Amino acid sequence: MTWKYELVIWLEIHVRVKSQTKMFCSCKNAVELAEEPNINVCPVCMWFPWMLPKLNAEVVRLGVIAGQAMKCEVNKISRFDRKSYFYPDLPNSFQTTQLYETIVGQWDVRVLVNWELKHFKIHHMHLENDAGKLTHVWGKTLCDYNRAGSPLMEIVTEPDFRSKDDVVEFLKELQKMMRFANVSDADMEKGQLRCDVNISLRKFGENILNNRVELKNINSFSSIGRAIDTEFSRQAKLYEKWEYVDQETRGWDDDKGVSNVQRSKENAMDYRYFPEPDLLPIVLTDEFIADCASKVGELPIDRRITYLNDYKFKEDDARILSADRDISDYFDSLVALTKDANKSNSYITSVLLAMMKEDAEVNTFASLRFEISELAEVIALVNKDELSSTNAKLVIEELFVNGGKTSAIVDAKWLRQTNDLWALEAVVDKVIESNPTQVADYKWGNERIFGFLVGQCMKASAWAWNPKIFNDILKNKLG
Ligand SMILES: [Zn+2]
Repeated sequence: MTWKYELVIWLEIHVRVKSQTKMFCSCKNAVELAEEPNINVCPVCMWFPWMLPKLNAEVVRLGVIAGQAMKCEVNKISRFDRKSYFYPDLPNSFQTTQLYETIVGQWDVRVLVNWELKHFKIHHMHLENDAGKLTHVWGKTLCDYNRAGSPLMEIVTEPDFRSKDDVVEFLKELQKMMRFANVSDADMEKGQLRCDVNISLRKFGENILNNRVELKNINSFSSIGRAIDTEFSRQAKLYEKWEYVDQETRGWDDDKGVSNVQRSKENAMDYRYFPEPDLLPIVLTDEFIADCASKVGELPIDRRITYLNDYKFKEDDARILSADRDISDYFDSLVALTKDANKSNSYITSVLLAMMKEDAEVNTFASLRFEISELAEVIALVNKDELSSTNAKLVIEELFVNGGKTSAIVDAKWLRQTNDLWALEAVVDKVIESNPTQVADYKWGNERIFGFLVGQCMKASAWAWNPKIFNDILKNKLG
């Protein structure tokens, strides 16, 4: 029966803005909740009588940058509204949000879903403040207002999503955009990216929007997939029985794999929206918008398309290299220096990232102990056949552990591949000199010793050359 129905989904996404201070006061906007409750609070974010909010310009700047990262239209004038409701996590019984005139308008976001480029429309994005956090223990409720008044961006999409893959890939792309633009860490597990999924079904071929169910409390990409599957079959079963789907809000319980009704249409709240009297409209100048645009940089999706189409990389490599801005920037800079995308890719993905994963101290590109030009030099030497790929790895390991200069390491460790016979002869002479007994043995007719001497030459030159070269020189010298 499921083949009869088409999924229709739209999303409401909350993203925590990574500003230094809260939205309307100078309290610290902690990225993670502090262990001690109620330490990042003040009379403004606790909305004591006579306190007035003062809009944080950094929040506006980051909001505009995020809007431009999504390629959305930025509105030069936007305003705040009050959304009234009573709940203990809200100290003032209203949320300051933007309903009528939002800071960011519509456009669409491009996403690769199973390697097909799709477009999903954004209805708008607005700014609003977060609420506190309630913890229910021993039959009591504890309120922590550290998060109250922290800035949020709410992104509302059009009903453009037709599968769970659409939703999950869109959210992953959005997360990357927020991280690349440095406006939020957008970590779902830490509640920095929260998504309410609005799901309805219709028969294929229909063009209507049926009653929708809003699913809340979903906090990982994998549980979003599970929640959508479960809700799809729940609604399909209802339609099959000729029953209605109630327009309601349901909370997702990931442990049990079920959703439960939180709020039905009958008791939907009236938020009594009205213009916020304590805040002036946000008026943006062209210069401000242009300055924000300059901070966005090349988007992750564009980088991934370049890696796939221009460099012909494998999908996995393209995904790794565009997963985070540090990796992507480092890779792009290395390609600019070496003009060799393939080697830049393989030395980053299979050598450098593997070492960074194992190292507690050097696990970011900023903490590397060597300049990027040294890695470019390694690639240049390999391309000139002066360094073997095995030895290139040794040099990168040495750079990684102790830093330094590529050319100095290559020379100190005798790693330079050369056709310079003089250098090779020097190695052989040294081996002959330091193994007199074995040399004498060989000269007496013990042929098996010869292999040992070649091995010693290889070892002394750190396996940089073909053993055949040493074979020839040794034969020559030992007669
Ligand atoms: Zn405060």
